[in-house]
Amino acid sequence: MQILDGKALSDKIKIELKQESILLNEKGIFPALAVILVGDDPASQTYVNTKEKACGVAGIKSIMHKMPSSTTQKELLDIITSLNLDSSVDGILVQLPLPKHIDTNAVIEAIDPKKDVDGFHPFNVGRLMAGLDGFVPCTPFGVMRLLEEYKINVRGLDACVIGASNIVGKPMMNLLLNASATVEICRSSTKNLCEHTKRADLIVVGVGKINLLTADMVKEGAIVIDVGINRNAEGKIVGDVDFAGVAPKCSFITPVPGGVGPMTIAMLLENTIKSAKNR
Ligand code: NAD
Repeated sequence: MQILDGKALSDKIKIELKQESILLNEKGIFPALAVILVGDDPASQTYVNTKEKACGVAGIKSIMHKMPSSTTQKELLDIITSLNLDSSVDGILVQLPLPKHIDTNAVIEAIDPKKDVDGFHPFNVGRLMAGLDGFVPCTPFGVMRLLEEYKINVRGLDACVIGASNIVGKPMMNLLLNASATVEICRSSTKNLCEHTKRADLIVVGVGKINLLTADMVKEGAIVIDVGINRNAEGKIVGDVDFAGVAPKCSFITPVPGGVGPMTIAMLLENTIKSAKNR
């Protein structure tokens, strides 16, 4: 069993991106990411701080817009419009979830697809589905990069993606399809999850439930990617996989923390540099 070390790879990518930033600076381009945080959700605050710090390492300017939870949809859309028009801004990220009175889809659709470094705009979602170049959502993009780094070719593999959200499961499914894997996608309404996971060569789980994937659900030699982030009873960050039970059966497995999480941030930075290059 080999650990897929997302922390080490993300550190390597950040150094490479810093070099790319320096080259862009020489051409008078200073990559910049605008991050909008509405409200005071502590988890979102932590994510935003981590992103801001990572931007610094990669030579990307981070422009924070902290807005109160009472912010109206119009106020938020106005900020997005001004950032769309600002030629010194390469990427716009709206931290989700948004307060309930704001229509998340309207906000995502307001972002200029050329600055949609999260890859959530329907324009980029469509391009991904069609196998065209665009911005790919950072978490599944990070999973693919991690597999590539360890020379894992998914062509012809039977893959099972657990979780069907727009930010994790669905783009993960499309990326694996584009890479010629055979893909099944499971969700809470799936009748017999174990039946699907047991025959998979590659399992990607992104649900948000501790110990959802246990050893009896995994075949010998499988590759297991754990996207989940949960806090256990002791307050420790854990994934969706029963790591101690599942790892001995795997050929490769990601740890939590230190697997997919750092790769997500690295791909956000990579998307921002890509946008800066397109300026
Ligand atoms: P979500 O709530 O939008 O989607 C969860 C999905 O899981 C849904 O499709 C649902 O049908 C499915 N599901 C729920 N219970 C299930 C069950 N018992 N069996 C099978 N499927 C089930 O969540 P999300 O935003 O996609 O996030 C999922 C998890 O991934 C969370 O733990 C989140 O924190 C984590 N996450 C991690 C990163 C990262 O960088 N590592 C990034 C994004 C999300």
